Amino acid sequence: FVVHIVASFFSKLQEDPTKKVDRFLYAMHLHDDQLSDISARFQAEMKKGLSVESNAAAALKMLPTHVRSTPDGSEKGEFLALDLGGSRFKVLQVKVGEATGIKKGGVEMVEKTYPTPEESSLLLQLFDHVSESLKDFLHEKNISLERKHPLAFTFSFPCEQSTLNQGLLLNWTKNFRAGGLQGKDVVQALRGALDRIGGVDVEVLAMVNDTVATMMTCGFDDQQCEVGLIIGTGTNACYMEELRHIDLVEGDEGRMCVNTEWGAFGDDGALKDYVTEFDRDLDAASNNPGKQILEKMVGGMYLGELVRLVVLKMAKLGLLFKGQVSKALRTKGTITTEHVAAMEEYKNGLNNTRDLLMGLDLIPTFDDCVAVQHVSTIVSFRSSNLVSAGLAAILTRIMENRNLRKLRITVGVDGTVYKMHPQYPKRLHKVVRRLLPECHVRFVLSDSGSSKGAALVSAVAQRLASRRRQ
Ligand code: BGC
Ligand code: MG
Repeated sequence: FVVHIVASFFSKLQEDPTKKVDRFLYAMHLHDDQLSDISARFQAEMKKGLSVESNAAAALKMLPTHVRSTPDGSEKGEFLALDLGGSRFKVLQVKVGEATGIKKGGVEMVEKTYPTPEESSLLLQLFDHVSESLKDFLHEKNISLERKHPLAFTFSFPCEQSTLNQGLLLNWTKNFRAGGLQGKDVVQALRGALDRIGGVDVEVLAMVNDTVATMMTCGFDDQQCEVGLIIGTGTNACYMEELRHIDLVEGDEGRMCVNTEWGAFGDDGALKDYVTEFDRDLDAASNNPGKQILEKMVGGMYLGELVRLVVLKMAKLGLLFKGQVSKALRTKGTITTEHVAAMEEYKNGLNNTRDLLMGLDLIPTFDDCVAVQHVSTIVSFRSSNLVSAGLAAILTRIMENRNLRKLRITVGVDGTVYKMHPQYPKRLHKVVRRLLPECHVRFVLSDSGSSKGAALVSAVAQRLASRRRQ
């Protein structure tokens, strides 16, 4: 009886379950001084990537994109577009500007999503699939096969470009692994496949990263948009850099958009003080161990898995579910980023957490649900905090470049995590503004930015070319 009283006394005194999670995950809490430290490391890595002497060894590749200007709203034309490497593979027809009967500054799109050719397909299969999809699209939308169509290609992987419509794939990221493309010209591979398939006549005008496309889409409406950000399956950012700082490209006048490929931040150990045992386990079990370290702490492909690893460990230690562990909880991939977003919903978050855990054959108490929801919050908050640190680095660099003490700028954002997670955008905006009070940042969701933008790059290129001819 006495034992009983003592036990119930202690259970009443039992602490708020979020406290034990905070203690367990203290390493994932990043304070502002730590974020500023990460931001400083980011800036150093950016410099390293831009300089010709250190580029080869730099984690941030700082790839020149050959995009020299954001849109001015006068662009026009009709383009086919491919968007490959995000969460969905899309084929589109994009009409830009008044040429098409749309009002000046307008963009109209017709699009279709095709199955994503990701894991383990061979290069040939990959681009054959892309070409077949394009052909199918032309048929379905009744687009003439008689004339040649200008085509814009959003390809969301690191590519070394020496012109706008050429690019060597440096490495695959996310869940793509098609063999045989590394080091090859992606546009050439696409052209080869189109020739094999036959019947589709296109001219590839531009190949762009999704960050660049997103910046351009947002820049079509907002001249101050000079940064593009993706927080989706993977993560990355681009921005307008002074050409005189880009060693790899001749010329000193004006600016060029640089694709930072910041997902690789940390690949050389720059994040070693911040990487946790869960990050290490996730990395070890990934397609590309040792690579894309920041991306694995930030991107939608990994957030759910991080939560699963934490919850599993806590259960094994008896901190959750009275030590009960299920087969489903032990299985890679059973918690996804959609689950993370659902767990953090304002009203239904706890119910969603309980449903998820029961779906994993666990029997959670109310406190278990509160704790797991809190794990999810810490993991996704860390993601937005790391993005804030990276963005602060880019914005600081832009201010230094232009010798400004204050900056007004717009960041175009796209990606499933930013779009689907109920609290992510707010947290991100708040922390960036706190880290950089001298910067007046506007965030604009560039919906479908990654698809639309490639067409805009092509339109800008056409506009500049026609001006040169005049
Ligand atoms: C790729 C980037 C891309 C980002 C977002 C990363 O894995 O390396 O090129 O911009 O994902 O899609
Ligand atoms: Mg230069």
